[in-house]
Amino acid sequence: MTQKRLLGAYAHPDDEQGVSGLMHKYAREGAEVTLICATRGEAGQVAPGVSATSETLGQVREAELRCAAEKIGIRNVYFLDYRDSGMLGSPENNDPRALWQANVLEVAEKLTRLIRRHQPHVILTFDPQGGYGHPDHIKVHQAALIAYLVADDARVFPEHITREGLSPWAVSKLYWNAFPRRRIEQYVKLAQLAGLDLGVPLQEFLKRAVPDEAITTRIDVAEFVDVKLSALFCHASQMDPNSIWNKIPAEMRRVALSTETLIRAESRVVVADAIETDLFVGIE
Ligand SMILES: [Zn+2]
Repeated sequence: MTQKRLLGAYAHPDDEQGVSGLMHKYAREGAEVTLICATRGEAGQVAPGVSATSETLGQVREAELRCAAEKIGIRNVYFLDYRDSGMLGSPENNDPRALWQANVLEVAEKLTRLIRRHQPHVILTFDPQGGYGHPDHIKVHQAALIAYLVADDARVFPEHITREGLSPWAVSKLYWNAFPRRRIEQYVKLAQLAGLDLGVPLQEFLKRAVPDEAITTRIDVAEFVDVKLSALFCHASQMDPNSIWNKIPAEMRRVALSTETLIRAESRVVVADAIETDLFVGIE
């Protein structure tokens, strides 16, 4: 392989945090890292003390993502310009500009174009549950799976080839972000010990957590925890000082951040049964 190329397909500024350590690790080794963010997170809650209105939040969060991308070493950042759909059941779900309202093939076409342009060996995205069930995460998951399956087929979205000069591209591997049950149970226990309300996302994560045996891939990013934290702190508008995350003891957080876990969902190269510690293993 002349140059390793890695592409992440996510929905909101800060979704990249689950893989920021491994993106940084590969970027440092010279890999080209590309991040696609389908929305600007306009429907997120604004942390106290941050000056952003519902009109300006998209701009603020775009700048926060660009700050994080620079710290991580992400070379290319693309927004697909959909609107954040908000949590399931919120009125924002029905906004015609919302990602949740978009045709999944339309989203897949945009992802396929960027795959054909950047020719990544590896793609990372959400699992079928969208992590904790956010509608935008589910939509990106569906579109990324379709894009992985069709990007090497010149008959699909042929205008990319005939009109835009791109070539079909076979991505070698597709991964889901995965949150193993044991780790989430640790967070829940800590929260309960501290007498904290679990909050909806943590409850949802727990309900949908994957069994630890389902994890195929563990990337050790312990030496990059400080980089991960500096990228995380770029997302100031999302950093609620009262969140459970901020009440977890710092040492515990450091341990939690030192490994990134994934599920290898698809592969066009031969893979071993053993747990992988490198995303590019098996790729020529
Ligand atoms: Zn998200």
